[in-house]
Amino acid sequence: MTAHIIDGKSIAKQIRDNLKSKIGINNSAISPTLAVILVGDNEASQIYVRNKKKAADEIGINCQILELSSSIGENALLEVIEQLNTDENIHGIIVQLPLPKHIDALKILSKINPLKDVDGFSPYNAGLLSYNDQKAFISATPKGILELLKSTGTELTGKHAVIIGRSNIVGKPVSMLLLNNDCTVTITHSKTKEIASILRTADIVIAACGQAKLVKSDWIKEGAIIIDVGINREDGKLCGDVDFENVKEKAAYITPVPGGVGPMTIAMLLSNTYEAFCLQKNQKQCCCKDKKCHSH
Ligand code: NDP
Repeated sequence: MTAHIIDGKSIAKQIRDNLKSKIGINNSAISPTLAVILVGDNEASQIYVRNKKKAADEIGINCQILELSSSIGENALLEVIEQLNTDENIHGIIVQLPLPKHIDALKILSKINPLKDVDGFSPYNAGLLSYNDQKAFISATPKGILELLKSTGTELTGKHAVIIGRSNIVGKPVSMLLLNNDCTVTITHSKTKEIASILRTADIVIAACGQAKLVKSDWIKEGAIIIDVGINREDGKLCGDVDFENVKEKAAYITPVPGGVGPMTIAMLLSNTYEAFCLQKNQKQCCCKDKKCHSH
């Protein structure tokens, strides 16, 4: 069996195009506006933020980047967030992670107004997700993963999903989201014993551990769906957490790296920003009321 490659790039483009047309027909004088807080000069963060801004600009979302010194104090950063919270022309706020070590990320994320928390990283939105409350802003990567799974047309109910990784930004929220979608979920991490034998029981594998090509073809069940979140660099080339070339011969569906989860993460962030804009403007055409809508 050779797997069907899930084309995240093209699915993400459809979502962005859909959002662009909705934003285009918006009668409001104000554009949806996303504020991105970038602390310090982490090179990878600068690239991610630039890519988010480019994608936002292309569909008519105004993206304001606030570049702050790595020496900024916690209180000063909290003050910046408070100003954005009360600015009614700002609809979404994200704090690019990681933050410098002297800053408590949880304290900072907790400060973001939940209605503007379009990354869904605040404890409030994480809590709503665990309650399976539809009002939750679900973080972009897990939300994008769910869309990729749905694109395969596979019924998720009762499927065994094994997640590799338990971070607050990917592993835990994607586990909760799949649980909310009636999967049976197993979370694995660096201390998990016999990880390969657990993975062999998985109908769905979500690899989010940041270990290049960790998942081998003899770790997976014939016909499994493989979602590779990892972004690693090996011999100067990007690769995921899955040994793609070999695993694709055994899986039913697989995402490539690049071109799988990455583009979906940005599309979903834009979708959340548009949703936040609609909620704050209390617009009747809010896309989140439309169950068939693929823009969020
Ligand atoms: P973290 O480093 O925060 O978490 C990694 C997780 O993987 C931890 O829970 C860790 O376990 C677990 N882990 C590490 N090594 C192993 C191993 N050998 N076996 C099993 N589990 C292991 O990473 P993130 O969650 O932030 O990101 C994961 C990957 O996804 C990275 O490559 C990142 O670049 C990528 N990423 C991609 C995005 C995209 O849009 N495509 C978005 C976000 C992240 P423990 O908790 O025990 O330490």
